[in-house]
Amino acid sequence: MTKKSDKTCEGCGSQNLKSHPTTYPVNMGEKQLNIERVWVRECLDCNIMKPTKAGQEKIDRGLGAFMTLMLR
Ligand SMILES: [Zn+2]
Repeated sequence: MTKKSDKTCEGCGSQNLKSHPTTYPVNMGEKQLNIERVWVRECLDCNIMKPTKAGQEKIDRGLGAFMTLMLR
């Protein structure tokens, strides 16, 4: 099993990553949706933030709720 990409920055290849919860902005066309307390892995070298698997699931739920509101 290869899972090294899990702990390597996609931007610069650094392994100097830190996991923490943050407010994660998602652009939805002209609107911006801020999803609170999303777990991300932040690269301390180039500052790219990438949601963890749990973080991505939370974003997906947030977008789903947002879409439901929009369609009302
Ligand atoms: Zn990086």
